[in-house]
Amino acid sequence: MSDRDYYEILGVSREASSQEIKKAFRQVARELHPDVNAHDPEAEEKFKEAAEAYEVLSDDENRRTYDQYGRDGLRSGGYQSQAQGFGSIDDLFSAFFGGGFGGSRGPSPGADIGVQVEIELDDVLDGTSREIEYEAVANCEHCHGNGAEPGTPIKTCDRCQGAGELRTVANTAFGQMVRATPCDRCNGDGRIAEEPCKVCSGLGRKHSSKKSRIDIPAGIESGQRIRIGGAGHAGETGATPGDLYVEVLVKEREGMIRDGQDLVTVVPVDATAAMLGDTVEVETLDGKDEIELAPGTQPGAETRIKGKGLPRLGSSRRRGNHRFIFNVVVPGKLSEDQKRLAGELNDSITDANREPKESGVFSRMRKAFG
Ligand SMILES: [Zn+2]
Ligand SMILES: [Zn+2]
Repeated sequence: MSDRDYYEILGVSREASSQEIKKAFRQVARELHPDVNAHDPEAEEKFKEAAEAYEVLSDDENRRTYDQYGRDGLRSGGYQSQAQGFGSIDDLFSAFFGGGFGGSRGPSPGADIGVQVEIELDDVLDGTSREIEYEAVANCEHCHGNGAEPGTPIKTCDRCQGAGELRTVANTAFGQMVRATPCDRCNGDGRIAEEPCKVCSGLGRKHSSKKSRIDIPAGIESGQRIRIGGAGHAGETGATPGDLYVEVLVKEREGMIRDGQDLVTVVPVDATAAMLGDTVEVETLDGKDEIELAPGTQPGAETRIKGKGLPRLGSSRRRGNHRFIFNVVVPGKLSEDQKRLAGELNDSITDANREPKESGVFSRMRKAFG
């Protein structure tokens, strides 16, 4: 707890009237309320500090003691801050502003569930389906979720008289503070089964293993989620269930990089093949295929097979392209004979053999990667 001056905390002068002090506290409180100021993790501490300042300065006797002897004077007089004893900022608010800040009552809806499935890159072509199993809180089938053994009565909870919550009233400097906690007898339901359901012990819900077949559409991207409404955890009696979110992870396939609807493969070719030209066998999602390596192919040059990429999610069956980028590999560890041949070749090269500068590797790479 800080030792800041109470007047300073509320931003009022030492001569402030009780009306001014009240007004200042209201102002500070409104600014610090979590609904307004959710981003400030210190809001609750600051609010308690302001509440303590208000608590002291709004009481004539405590204010006089504080003015003369400071906090030590208050302490030695046996003063203890009630503001510091509140559980949460909401409690303080309902004490000071008369409630209305607490959570809404009523049965709470079920929580969402997230699961992951992994599919192969090939599955993205036509889409697929997967059977998934997951644990969820479900309504008890035996009692249909009301927690009572079938045929036995459900009566109003005698601990909370059906309110679902227990209220304790305390008198504080802020007025009467009503603290409400969920009834521990009926778990906030307000009603209680005379004979609890034997299957779920009266909870109305139980853990169960669920199975669901999920259709995964063609063109899906890794990390995209499919929402199955109402397939999450069951809510409290009368409330809606949560949703199931299936996150689809697409496995990477060796040698194929996905670029939206396109697939990209880097193809290593020997420098001599790049010089002379060749036919190269490549792998596509549809199986083996061939691409032409033109004579004089440069590192980073690209060729493509149209329509061998992936379809777009939720659109026509038109597929992207499979792009191939040539990586020209220069042979190392040459024999004496090869060195001599390479030397002869080198000596014979003239400007007429050289590629123009603008088709250099950098501009080709830039083109290849968009
Ligand atoms: Zn049951
Ligand atoms: Zn109750």
